[in-house]
Amino acid sequence: MEEIDGNILVAMSLAKFGIRHMFGVVGIPVTSLANRAVSLGIRFIAFHNEQSAGYAASAYGFLTASPGVLLTVSGPGCVHGLAGLSNAMANTWPMIMISGSCDQNDVGRGDFQELNQIEAVKPFSKLSLKATHITEIPNCLSQVLNSASSGRPGGCYLDLPSDVLHQKISKEQALSLLHNIQTQNNPHSSLTTTTTTTITTTRISEAVSLLRHAQRPLIVFGKGAAYARAEHSLKKLVESTGIPFLPTPLGKGLLPDTHHLAATAARSLAIGKCDVAVVVGARLNWLLHFGESPKWSNDVKFILVDISEEEIQLRKPHLGLVGDAKQIVEILNKEIKDDPFCLGKTHPWVEAISKKVKDNVEKMEAQLVKDVVPFNFFTPMRIIRDAIVGLGSPAPIVVSEGANTMDVGRSVLIQTEPRTRLDAGTWGTMGVGLGYCIAAAVASPDRLVVAVEGDSGFGFSAIEVETLVRYQLPVVVIVFNNGGVYGGDRRSPEEIDGPHKDDPAPTSFVPNAGYHALIEAFGGKGYLVGTPEELKNALSETFSARKPAVINVIIDPYAGAESGRLQHKN
Ligand code: ADP
Repeated sequence: MEEIDGNILVAMSLAKFGIRHMFGVVGIPVTSLANRAVSLGIRFIAFHNEQSAGYAASAYGFLTASPGVLLTVSGPGCVHGLAGLSNAMANTWPMIMISGSCDQNDVGRGDFQELNQIEAVKPFSKLSLKATHITEIPNCLSQVLNSASSGRPGGCYLDLPSDVLHQKISKEQALSLLHNIQTQNNPHSSLTTTTTTTITTTRISEAVSLLRHAQRPLIVFGKGAAYARAEHSLKKLVESTGIPFLPTPLGKGLLPDTHHLAATAARSLAIGKCDVAVVVGARLNWLLHFGESPKWSNDVKFILVDISEEEIQLRKPHLGLVGDAKQIVEILNKEIKDDPFCLGKTHPWVEAISKKVKDNVEKMEAQLVKDVVPFNFFTPMRIIRDAIVGLGSPAPIVVSEGANTMDVGRSVLIQTEPRTRLDAGTWGTMGVGLGYCIAAAVASPDRLVVAVEGDSGFGFSAIEVETLVRYQLPVVVIVFNNGGVYGGDRRSPEEIDGPHKDDPAPTSFVPNAGYHALIEAFGGKGYLVGTPEELKNALSETFSARKPAVINVIIDPYAGAESGRLQHKN
């Protein structure tokens, strides 16, 4: 009778649950697991560092609405993977981390890479399970996959001790275990089964009445709405009511930034003066100034739409609608349809927003049109924006990180399609760039991926350019190289003292570092650019080649502000 071991059973279970991609770093005791998964048709993207692989798994969960899977070795591998797991939790994205762990018989004896991994992952996961026997593998996997994507999505963890991976059962028993897993535990059915919206009709009528009678209504949407694929229902809501809208950074593109009701360029006015704001799939956290004055008006009434009851309880909005963003917006649309209303272009609020948008866009353009050399942040960003717009549809996925690079990029780069922007997100996580690029290329093979990142963000995981080359992923990484974190040495003379005063500043890197040469070491294309013409040529070549490339853009080290737009926090 044919026998199979734990490694094979994990691979069979993953394949059965519809997992198509895994990210990770192999080693003891999970190498065979990865090979088995590949032999069953799962694409394994092997990274250099679990941190980056974990970031990839988290973003993959967002982009595909099914859990990204990270595989790590035991002990230190699991600890490195916590970066990705915690990032998934902070952003509410579905992912699972599977880590090998030491033999259960050796626990407490100082075994190779021993760690109580279940305890270590607890603060960063919705559910953490250990399979203590091979027969528990299918059920444990099913549970973590299901939990990761049900309700408010997040990170989950599965611990696989090495003795469990080496245990054997008959293939027949394995198939029977897999067969017995209920279909409701299948992660791919979980999104629809667990987010069914059950809100009372009175709440819906109240929400519509608030919007109907508002003087200055606003629709805000975030990455929860993007995750819920709410773009069509939101478009209908915006266009049927004529209410201006404001996306959060990762909500950008659900409706095009160029839409006539987009209030992005009039953000301060929109949030400062609105009297009713329906906020869909976005937390009233630091990114939205906690929904408080002085950024928001004191008497704004929030209608909060969120999958998480806990979130609604925390924020205490005027009205909370718990459920899936797409479903709730559809219900709102239905309710409005029976008695439609539309503000129209001449409504004073719509006019005020449009005028502010026009003024601010003109001001920004005046800054952007100048060709400043050595480069500030604006000149190269404009050139990149125009090159991206020139690509048309399908629009590339833009990955962005860094203080000034991300801030300036968010205002200048134009998003026209949903889920085409990934950035440092809720946690302000730096170092996500390469992992996100790889996830995006794997999850959306029809799209080019363009990373626009600071040299500091790039440096966290720069070695993963080898991964780009190895898998020949269509990713162009543009590094805004200003020689350090925020720029060069920005210390005042009083700050430069003591026995180590001759050391480089904590904020500075080697000036004019040759980041483009890094990818050339692996056979990718590198470009060093310092003028508009050089940048345009590099973009034109790399965008049409759709091959791994790094464009090293030399920026004036004194351009931009320390801490970007968060100076008050530093
Ligand atoms: P942003 O960074 O864009 O402001 P946040 O991460 O702060 O977005 O908020 C996303 C919110 O979306 C979270 O509170 C999460 O619970 C919620 N969410 C996740 N999935 C859904 C969904 N399917 N429908 C509605 N809300 C969702």
